[in-house]
Amino acid sequence: MTTTALALLNQPSAEAPPHREGAAPWELVDPDAPHVRILDLGVTRGDGVFETISVGAGRPQALVAHLKRLARSAASLELPAPDLDAWEGAVRAAADAIDPVPEAYVKTVLTRGVEGDGRPTGWAYAAPADDFRAARRDGIRVVMLDRGYRHDVAQTSPWLLQGAKSLSYAVNRAVIREAKRRNADDVVFVSSDGYLLEGSTSNLLLRVGDTLVTPGTHLGILPGTTQGDLFAFAAQRGLGTDYALLRPEDLHSADAAWLVSSVRHAAPIRQVDGVDRPIDEEFTTALNAYLVARTE
Ligand code: PLP
Repeated sequence: MTTTALALLNQPSAEAPPHREGAAPWELVDPDAPHVRILDLGVTRGDGVFETISVGAGRPQALVAHLKRLARSAASLELPAPDLDAWEGAVRAAADAIDPVPEAYVKTVLTRGVEGDGRPTGWAYAAPADDFRAARRDGIRVVMLDRGYRHDVAQTSPWLLQGAKSLSYAVNRAVIREAKRRNADDVVFVSSDGYLLEGSTSNLLLRVGDTLVTPGTHLGILPGTTQGDLFAFAAQRGLGTDYALLRPEDLHSADAAWLVSSVRHAAPIRQVDGVDRPIDEEFTTALNAYLVARTE
């Protein structure tokens, strides 16, 4: 039985030397064996970038969008540009190597490598997805938490790397613990000047009448692959789509609201800061059916 698989990149970037001269671009290795050096800057500084890609019936979903975002995040951190052909091969190889399951994921990690070595480290790890049926069906409770940055932080202070999917996710984990302390499941970040941003690992999507609305991608948030695909789905169904500056009251008053992300897909928000709000079961089912069935 092969439940997990690991493809190790020999040369994660064409701009840096390979780890082994003349070896294949990636190699399937034992996922339970040690492969990362303890001085790797990804480990010691969180200095790297990652993606989590959902896999439906063996096929990586939104792969092109994820790889583009990996490259964008790497550029923000001034990492050597990932060789996207090698990464695509590694992602597909890892996804293919595990025993078939309806839903899985591949996590890609690109780090700056061992300090002074000049060769980035990269891998793609595949595993079955957790069971998110309850979150998709029954919904989640969120609390709004101040992120502490203004909504224009990406423009005023690009060195804070807001909007890059860096490995420094300790804050994104800490806020989940804070949410649990407040009897909630997840958070919606709000800028210090009062605009809705995103979830801890997801984008916020609202339905207002016949339009799906999400906070603008220039707000120092991650441009979501799931949100992008759901805008395409909405357009197919004749719904409008919009990127907007939104306030907390817009979340309370929306006809429906979701946190959307790869793997968990569309989780309807059923409570905000302790106040129940309606969920749209039928539309949520349609969103998740679409997301689970994507073949690319
Ligand atoms: N925002 C943040 C901070 C995230 O970490 C993620 C995904 O992990 C998302 C949004 C959603 O992105 P995607 O839909 O591409 O998974």
